Amino acid sequence: MTSTESAILKPDEKHHPGHGPVLAMIDVLAGTNRLVDPGRPQLRISDLAAIRGDGVFETMLARRGVPRKVEAHLSRLAASARMAELDIPARAVWHDTITNALRAHGLCEEALVKLAVSRGVEGGDRVTAWVHVSDCTGHYDTQRTRGIDVLLLDRGYDSGLGIRAPWLLIGAKTLSYAVNMAALRHARSNGADDAIFVSSDGIVLEGPTSTLLLAMHVDDPARRTLVTPSLDSGVLAGTTQAAVYPLARAAGWRAHHAELHVEDLFEADAAWLVSSGRLLAPINRIDGRVLKRRPSLDAELSGWIHQIE
Ligand code: PLP
Repeated sequence: MTSTESAILKPDEKHHPGHGPVLAMIDVLAGTNRLVDPGRPQLRISDLAAIRGDGVFETMLARRGVPRKVEAHLSRLAASARMAELDIPARAVWHDTITNALRAHGLCEEALVKLAVSRGVEGGDRVTAWVHVSDCTGHYDTQRTRGIDVLLLDRGYDSGLGIRAPWLLIGAKTLSYAVNMAALRHARSNGADDAIFVSSDGIVLEGPTSTLLLAMHVDDPARRTLVTPSLDSGVLAGTTQAAVYPLARAAGWRAHHAELHVEDLFEADAAWLVSSGRLLAPINRIDGRVLKRRPSLDAELSGWIHQIE
């Protein structure tokens, strides 16, 4: 058990609905944090988060006060920070801050815990860093159970660009998510719930905030396979997918990364978008075409995802 978990677990606490959000700002020099009013201004207008989207972030889920996959999120935050050449607070500081913010928030079924680091105030000498906790109980229930309709959207660059052009920070989780959010709005204004990006060379990539998972050969117990797009095609390394794979393998599935094309989506026995907050959303239709769906597989995958700590 991590120090974050042990500090938060209080099994006898009850769920108090309607918690307001909590914000803890990190003093990066002292390695301490303090709770501040999230309803009051906390960032300088010249902070590079605000004016350039220059920073990195993580979103994790806390269930009944216990944050999930903390180490995986901190590792990815560190990897994103390395790519962006940002000097971020140490792991212990994040653990303390997450603990403090979740305690102040109080128990709820599900909360989003967002970690963010910006390059700091323009001209300054240190990053700005914070942890924000907000109740998301019930928020994803419909998409988890009913499933989602998805549009395929052109990402506008080829699947090799991330490797050729590391300065584009493809594969880092940066604060510059305006394009991802615009893609989601485009999907929604065209009658879908979500999107999957496709590279200009026809490789299926990821959702704007999620990883694609496909199930193949599910009727042959010796060949049941989970597939997700290759990391070197320019996708974010999903922590949910990474945590699911060992559980799937332990249950006798094969699980690997592959270069996927659009026709693979329609040949799959089931397809999902998975992520830390929503967990899993079964895909019902892509560009209006109905996909195969297996409720028993939804239940199996959901079982693994709920086991993740
Ligand atoms: N891909 C992108 C672009 C994302 O933004 C996210 C999550 O925010 C994911 C994939 C899924 O990652 P995770 O499972 O770690 O939440």
